[in-house]
Amino acid sequence: METKDQIKRSVSITDVVQSYGLDLKPAGKNYKALCPFHTEKTPSFFIKPESDSFACYGCNKFGDVFTFVQNMENIGFVEAMNLIIEKFNIPVEKKKGFNYSREKKYSVINDTALKYFSGNLSGSGEGKKAADYLTDRDISQKTINDFSLGYALNRWDGLLNFIKSKSLDMDMCIELGLLIKNSKGEVYDRFRGRIIFPIFSESGNIIGFGGRTISDDKVKYLNSPETPLFIKGKNLYGFNITKQFMREKKSSILVEGYFDVISLYQHGIKNVSASLGTALTPAQIHLLRRVSDEIFIGYDSDNAGIEATIRGIERMFEQNLNPRVFNLKGEKDPDDFIRKYGPEEFERSALSSEDGLRFIINTLTKKYDTDIPEKKRDAVREVAKYINKFDDPIVKDGYITIAADYFNVGEREFDISKTTHVKGGKSPEPVELLTSEKILLQSVLKEPSFINMIEPLFNSRLYSVLNIGNLLKKIFSNYGAHNTLNYDLLQEELSPIENITLRMVFDSIDEVSGDNSVLEQNIESSMVNFFRILNEVEISEIGKKIKRAEREGNIEEIRKLINIKNKFNQQKYKVSLGGDLAK
Ligand SMILES: [Zn+2]
Repeated sequence: METKDQIKRSVSITDVVQSYGLDLKPAGKNYKALCPFHTEKTPSFFIKPESDSFACYGCNKFGDVFTFVQNMENIGFVEAMNLIIEKFNIPVEKKKGFNYSREKKYSVINDTALKYFSGNLSGSGEGKKAADYLTDRDISQKTINDFSLGYALNRWDGLLNFIKSKSLDMDMCIELGLLIKNSKGEVYDRFRGRIIFPIFSESGNIIGFGGRTISDDKVKYLNSPETPLFIKGKNLYGFNITKQFMREKKSSILVEGYFDVISLYQHGIKNVSASLGTALTPAQIHLLRRVSDEIFIGYDSDNAGIEATIRGIERMFEQNLNPRVFNLKGEKDPDDFIRKYGPEEFERSALSSEDGLRFIINTLTKKYDTDIPEKKRDAVREVAKYINKFDDPIVKDGYITIAADYFNVGEREFDISKTTHVKGGKSPEPVELLTSEKILLQSVLKEPSFINMIEPLFNSRLYSVLNIGNLLKKIFSNYGAHNTLNYDLLQEELSPIENITLRMVFDSIDEVSGDNSVLEQNIESSMVNFFRILNEVEISEIGKKIKRAEREGNIEEIRKLINIKNKFNQQKYKVSLGGDLAK
């Protein structure tokens, strides 16, 4: 049995949801609760024990027990599986195959690369130069160990040779972005002459690397590319080590750079982590929010840093959260600040820091001369734009009062909902489905392993004539990439309309039997119907071509086309999946 099935059999979705402290109220044969994924006052989050699923009618999140844990913890499918296994002590047969093998190989490669990088740092010559660089930046040996820092030699085949000597899979090393293959097919090291910062997942597996040059390379920082393992917007640098300190202090500090994290950490300010060179994402905010009540932003003090700070504040407002912005007192970044002033001063400065709204107001009043009425109007409008990101009316009203007070204007000037209507329209309508399309989707959602047999039956023509063609493509490729349906990622890949459609079908999967032979018949008859639809489309297109040929009087062409049309007319379809599902 697949591990994921073993888990589903051993633990109910109700148990898993309850383990996160949600207060479940019975609702018929289901349960309802306040949704953990969006802010609400009346429950629209439902647990359906019968189909082992959950769905929220407020934010439209839905899925199975794995999707739930993935969203709660902001982790990938395999990590969610492992977490449930650990948490509920589920005895699973360890077996090869499945996702494990690939993830396991990735992690062996990353661990091997780390060995190479850390080994270099303790070497002589170039390694010594790298170690001296860290010493110059006041980084202690303990910090180097805590964060597993390393060094990539300044050559094209350093890691390459090391990997060869360990006979690891070269293609996987390229997939992970450790090695690069150019158009001539030459393979070489991505990281050269750089201090290496391994990036860990929340549970402590290496998922990527960051490198800072210590020579005069124009690219100061270089990161691993996004890979199946390394999704930048879902991770934070240092978080695996520092989240426990965020929990203790109930607050977290978000900075820009690797050195900011390790330097603050070394100076005893340990509740710190960095976004990974991308704009702050809701997923990253969610990570911080899980472990802290208060978030401080401590980005660089240059213009780019100020802009990133404002964007970060905006993202947090959208989550009904007002962060505080650390005042660097003119220092370039938190690393410089702590080295100059020390941790006590850092704590003091944090205590007196302004909140996000105040930061935005101050930044904008510097930009607009608010003594001039027209400029003041512009500033008010811009502040209003930010405040209206809050969708909790009580919180929003509170900040409107503060801003109106500051600018000495009426409160209604800030409430966009009372002047123009920004929150656009109603939610999209689902795609209209044929019965055969609905049944196929239901069956695939019920037993995704059928995808292995269905996908080869499809070609681009068939996808293009179905209402659910694009949706199916995305479902198939999601399954192909994860060897299971990863609803969390799938929902990100789908358009709003596709999401609603999938959601509608998902809600109805109890209509079909879970019996594999029934599902197989369902799929076969749906596929036959699809081929018939395609056939009709082909016939009608040939019909058009025949008409054209008749107008042109092209007898030869007409004869040829009629032949083809007859073949299509006589075409009978039979689809037999004929495979036993590996169970
Ligand atoms: Zn919700």
